[in-house]
Amino acid sequence: MHDDHTTLAAAPFWRTKTLEQMDSAEWESLCDGCGRCCLVKLQDEDTEAIAYTDIGCQLLDDFNCRCRNYPDRQKQVPDCVRLTPETVRALGWLPPSCGYRLVEEGRDLYWWHHLVSGDRETVHAAGVSVRGKVAALEDELPLEDYVDHMVRWPLRLPRGAVRKTAKG
Ligand code: SF4
Ligand code: SF4
Repeated sequence: MHDDHTTLAAAPFWRTKTLEQMDSAEWESLCDGCGRCCLVKLQDEDTEAIAYTDIGCQLLDDFNCRCRNYPDRQKQVPDCVRLTPETVRALGWLPPSCGYRLVEEGRDLYWWHHLVSGDRETVHAAGVSVRGKVAALEDELPLEDYVDHMVRWPLRLPRGAVRKTAKG
């Protein structure tokens, strides 16, 4: 019997699966490696509003934009948030570019995501990652200086990051 489905290219997993349905390799690959969530955030005591800073977590490799001790990170940084489908839904501060947030909102990944481009450098080329934007790591500054490092860019998309393709 002829099967029409064999002639169609399979849609990629992030368009067909919910966060809950992904296996662990798919889940991990959904991270674009931007490093934005590894920036220190400050919370206003009165309003509970969260503000990003351009200060990196003590374990952030600010060139590769990756955790320097991912398997053991919660021993060194107990307040590092472990992302799960529930936390992705609950956290209000995940960047609009974050692969988990995009899929949770039913949106597609952008051209610079490595699952689309096939290249882990495109997140840097598009200006989405924190490469070149981290002023200091948290253990390099006194706490009272953090407030001077509040920034808005982690909650925005750079202009070149929203177009449809690398050339478009
Ligand atoms: S913000 Fe999202 S995509 Fe970027 S590093 Fe964090 S988890 Fe990964
Ligand atoms: S411990 Fe690692 S994953 Fe967690 S915030 Fe710090 S750099 Fe990011």
